[in-house]
Formats: sequence, C-alpha cells, structure tokens
Amino acid sequence: MDLRSTIESQFRLTTTQKKALEKIGLKTIEDLLFYFPTRYEDTTKLKNIADLEAGDKPIIYAKVKSIRMGKTFMKKTPITEAILEDSTGTVKATWFSQPYIAKMLKVGTSAKFQGTISERNKQLYITNPEYKNLNSIPLVTSDSLFNQKITDNFIYPVYPESRGITSKWFYHTMLKIFKAGILDEIEDTLPEKILRKYHLPSLKTALIWIHSPQKKSDSLSARKRFAFEEIFFIQLSRAKQKKEYQSYPSFRIKKTKKDMAKFISRFPFKTTNSQTKSINQILDDFGKDYAMSRLLEGDVGSGKTAVAASAIYAVTTTPPKNQPSAKLQTAYMVPTEILAKQHFESFIQYFAHLNINIGLITSSGCRKFPSKVDPTGWTKISRAQLLKWVANGEIPILIGTHSLISKSVVFKNLAFVIIDEQHRFGLMQRQGLAQKTNICSDNKNIMPHLLSMTATPIPRTLALTIYGDLDLTLLDQMPHGRKPIITEIILPDKREKTYEQIKIELKKGRQAYIICPRIDEPDPDKATALRVKSVKAEASRLKKDIFKEYEIGILHSKMKPAEKEGVMGDFTEGKITLLVATSVIEVGVNVPNATIIILEGAERFGLAQLHQLRGRVIRSNHQAYCYVFSETKTKKTSDRLNALQTTKNGFELAEHDLTLRGAGELTGRKQWGISDLGMEAIKNIKMVEASRLEAQKLITTNPDLKKYPLIKKKITQIQNSTHFE
Ligand code: ADP
Ligand code: MG
Repeated sequence: MDLRSTIESQFRLTTTQKKALEKIGLKTIEDLLFYFPTRYEDTTKLKNIADLEAGDKPIIYAKVKSIRMGKTFMKKTPITEAILEDSTGTVKATWFSQPYIAKMLKVGTSAKFQGTISERNKQLYITNPEYKNLNSIPLVTSDSLFNQKITDNFIYPVYPESRGITSKWFYHTMLKIFKAGILDEIEDTLPEKILRKYHLPSLKTALIWIHSPQKKSDSLSARKRFAFEEIFFIQLSRAKQKKEYQSYPSFRIKKTKKDMAKFISRFPFKTTNSQTKSINQILDDFGKDYAMSRLLEGDVGSGKTAVAASAIYAVTTTPPKNQPSAKLQTAYMVPTEILAKQHFESFIQYFAHLNINIGLITSSGCRKFPSKVDPTGWTKISRAQLLKWVANGEIPILIGTHSLISKSVVFKNLAFVIIDEQHRFGLMQRQGLAQKTNICSDNKNIMPHLLSMTATPIPRTLALTIYGDLDLTLLDQMPHGRKPIITEIILPDKREKTYEQIKIELKKGRQAYIICPRIDEPDPDKATALRVKSVKAEASRLKKDIFKEYEIGILHSKMKPAEKEGVMGDFTEGKITLLVATSVIEVGVNVPNATIIILEGAERFGLAQLHQLRGRVIRSNHQAYCYVFSETKTKKTSDRLNALQTTKNGFELAEHDLTLRGAGELTGRKQWGISDLGMEAIKNIKMVEASRLEAQKLITTNPDLKKYPLIKKKITQIQNSTHFE
C-alpha cells in the first residue's frame, strides 16, 4: 500500500461502498487520509434511560414505543407525545408545535435523541428533544465500535457519510492505513520553522490526531494545523499572483487632485468623503511603476460608479507615451446586459463633453457614441466595426458584458480594467480581462491597472484571504441626503397591522418587493420545509387576502430570461405594484419608486444578505421601509435580527454573521473554494494574520519557491482549482 494506491485495491469493498466512495470523490489512500471528520461525539454525554436525572441534557439511543398527537388543554397548541424505550427502561418525550414529528417518528423507529430532562409529578420526561434516525447514525452504543462502556470518556470521529460508508468504516480504515506505515511516506508541506513558531503539529501527527484523537485537545490542534495550512496556501498563491502582476510595468498616470476637480464638480451631487478618499487612493496607485490591483467594496448605492468614472477620466485624459494625440483605453465589464446598457447611458452623460468615443459590446449587439448623424446620441454598429475601432485605439472607453473577454477583442493601449460586481465573475474571467496583452508591439506585457468592485459584504479576515492579491478600499459611507431606511422586525401578531401601514405607502404611489425563501410550495412531507413561504403561494395569498386591488407579479430564478425581463419592465413602469421574488433579484435592478421591502422567513437568511436585500429600496429620496417578518420568537433569533436595526453597515453585519452563526452563513460562500475546516480559520483573525504574514515573508524571500517544491506544487493546484470559483 502506498499513498497513490487505490482504495479498491487495498480494501474489500461492496458495490454500494464503491459507489459511495465515488460519490464522495475518494479514490486513493491519500484522498482518504485527507477526508476529515466534521465533528467528534463525546461518549460522556451518552446515557441509558435508567440513569437519567432531571436537569441532564443527555444523548440517548432509543426506540419509539408509542406516539400520539394531541392539543394542549389551555392554548390548543399541537403537542406530540411519545414513549421512548431502551434496554434499561422507558421515558416520555414531548414536543410542542411540531405536528410533523409524529409522521417522521413512527412506532418502532430507532433514533438518537437529545434534550433536557425535566421532572413532573416524580416522573421524568424529555422536552422537545432533537432526534436523528438511527439508520443515519454512524455509531450505536449497542454495536460499539470501540467496545467500551458508555461511561468511558471517549470521543469518536463523525465523517460526512454516504450510503454504505459509515463513520465506523472510515475510522477502521484509517487505523489500518496508519498501521501499514503509510504516514512515514508523507512529507510535511509546511516549513518546520512555521510549525514550531505557531505550535502546530507535524503533518503525520496531525493526521493521526484528526482521525483518531485520544483527547479533544488533540483533535483541536490537528484541525488548527489544517485550517492554518489551507489559509496559508491560499494567501501564498494570492501573494504570488500579486508579485507577478507587479513585476510588469504599467501605464503611469499622473493626475493631481486639481486636475480631477473639474470633472468631479460636474457630478450632480457632492461626492462623499469616502468617495473622495477612494479616488485619491486610486490616483496614488496610478502614479506607481507597477499596475494597480485594487478592490473597491461598498454597499449597494454607495456610489461606486462615480469613483470608477473619475478614475476613467484620469486614464482617458492621459495620452500614451510617445503618442501625444492618442488616448489610453479603459475596459469596463459588468455581469448583465441590462447593467451594461445602464452604464453606457450614464457614461455618455459623464464623458460626452470630452468629445470621446464610447463603445458598448454585448452578445446581442454593439453600440457607439456619438452617432455620426446625431452627435448627442448613440448608434448601433457592427461588431466588426467596433472591434476595428477598439483595436486602433479610437474607442477609449469600452463597456461590456463578458463578451469583452473574447479573444477577438483587442485593444491598442489598454491601461485600465474595471470589473463591476466582480463576485459575479469567476477568477478566470477576471484574470482573462486583466491579462489582455496589447498587440501594439511597444506596449507588449504592460499590465493594465485593475479595479474590481463588489457589494458583497464579507468579513475582513475573509477579504484578506480570498482577495489577498488585491489592495482593499472600503466605501463605507452612503451619499448625503439619503434618508436612512426604517427597519422593523415584525413578529406574527403584528403582521396585519404592518400590511395596513404598507397600504398607506402604496396609496401614495410607492411600490414594494416581497422576498420569500423559496419558489414552489414545499413538499409537505419534509419537516423543515413546512413553515417556509414560497413565492407562488405567497403571491396568490396576498392577492386573495391582503392586496386585492393591486397588481402582483412574481420573479424567480426558474423563469426564462424573457419572462423575467417582461416582469421587471412592468415593475419599472409601475404596471405591477408588488413584486414577489426569491432572494436572487437581478443585480442592478434599479426601481427608485420601490421603497418598501418585506423579507419573509428572515431567520433563514444571514444578516449581511438581508442587508443587501434591503439595499434594493434605498435608491431615492422617498422614505424607505424594510419589514423583516420573522416566525420564530426565540431571543437568540430576535437579538440577531435586531442587529439590522442598529447596524447600518454591511461589513459589520458580515462580522456578526461570522461570530453568531458561523462561516456557513456568509453570502456567496460557495464560490470561494475554501473548505469548512478552512472557514474555521476565518473566524480567527490572529490565525489569518499569521498565515498572511508567513505567506508574504516566504514569497518575498523565495519568489519562485524553488527551495520548496512541495509548496510550489500545492500552489499550482490551488491556482488551477480556483477556475471554478
Ligand atoms: P453602487 O455603489 O451600488 O454601484 P451607484 O454608483 O449606482 O451605486 O450609485 C447609486 C446612486 O447614487 C446613483 O444614482 C448615483 O448617481 C448616486 N450617487 C452616487 N454618489 C452620490 C453622492 N455622493 N451623492 C448623492 N448621490 C450619489
Ligand atoms: Mg454598481
């Protein structure tokens, strides 16, 4: 057996097990070793029913002996009562307001239960216990993996399983692999110095500790090591990219604040301090020898476009070296065609007075401003014509969708690349645009300045990691004069009253969004789905019972693009008053007259996501309202939602999400390519800073990583795998 051996060749597997391994994506012994448990269970919490005492919160394994549904005497709340049984005795279990339990837990079902034990009339019972069916439970006491008594202190690993492959199987298999001496083959990827400095276990030790810890602290040390390692390698790969980017020359652009004042004063508003600061930071970057790579993060509506436009002004008014009559070029990429057109229109307003050409490229057509016939308007032109003008430098500003990345788009003097709503693009697309080398021979390998913009609020630790190759600017101030949004958390008893308040606004001519967690009616057999509102059902309920006299439209991701556009058009024109939608309302949808947003099932969303959703309605000078409808009354949930009232800033809310609910709640988390374990590190600012520091040190002293072949290999893997970002 060695690391490269297939699991199949070393262990006898059933067909089901083979399928399961394939499904999880495990082929080799090495894959298996790096498949980690997600948690450990502590057998000290396990109890036999005969040993229960009031006040305990034990885990018991039991069979359902009987179960029945009823209503409480006073309040008529649904109540489910069951008798649970193990080999030592029986205990009563009660659930309130969870009528589906009886459907899930039929008589005879074996399950694991956990809940608090109480006592009434000298009888013990367990209230609202959580449960998990036994056929999905990895290890059962009666069939003890460890052959130890329940009372022994032991923690056992729980792996993400698939049918046929249990945690028990993983555990035994790992032990066999350890025994075969495989670990001696493994070289440590982290430099010895770093391990010592941060008291991290060696790779070999960490593997043993993560799969078969003797005590909790061992498993924690091991997890810490792997979390550190993951973040360290991401940091390293980003630091390397940055170094490479900066090793090329750029177009130097020298503009003073004074040069900019005239352009900035043309905006129909006064820029915020935050905008001014961001513009100045960009001008500083422009003056350096190497290309800028900067991320501008700001809530929806914070005015990122004005910052970008100012930077474009600096670029277009700078001639390239030795070509005094030519202009440096800017490419501005946005995720949707609607947005591209919107930006094209606003840029005409911003730049028309400079007498320059502005181009638009999307998959459905191209435009150019100004038109020959009407110098104040634009005209449609052929793609070939547009590309010709871009290539000979006559179009200094080109706006477009991902069509911009296409090979046929070639610039003469591309000095500046802007990627708007960058979280909507993959890493490859972002790099694709930034790395467009110019055809003009004297400009070869000159890197354009890069400005990425996003409204996804993420915690600082995460930003430092995934955007480690970018410098960060926060636009953390909203434009002046905008009335702060009024946010209210609405519990079920205030629902009707709130609808009345909303009607007052609708009578004034305003419009509203209603956001629901799902599209279709839930499957009634799924316990968790029961109380979650769906777009379709909610729209018909509102039409029937609440907003009879208004037009109601629906919008969700399963609709065809043309259908979506139709509905959005009707909403923009006011033909539809209420729009019931899922949380994925098109980015950049801008309907200033929509000033109300209702967020249904709010407890299911992260705070930062709720915040982003409410950003939809702060688009005008009308008072905006956000009603957060919550069905749960627990203090924890309401405390969490209350943060929406006190915190107006998306970044702070993202931090809240991280500390209150964990990394899983962060908006957009799937696209970052960080494992759950790596996400544990994101919670720990010290760990992120340490890994960042070490990554930067290593890349400064060993830019080509020649001395560290293992690390180099790993970095290449990371850079290849983030294609799917
Ligand atoms: P985002 O950051 O979401 O891209 P935009 O750039 O689209 O935001 O700006 C949102 C709106 O705010 C636009 O209508 C823009 O003209 C306006 N705006 C931008 N900056 C200011 C400002 N300093 N004062 C007032 N309005 C502003
Ligand atoms: Mg924008």
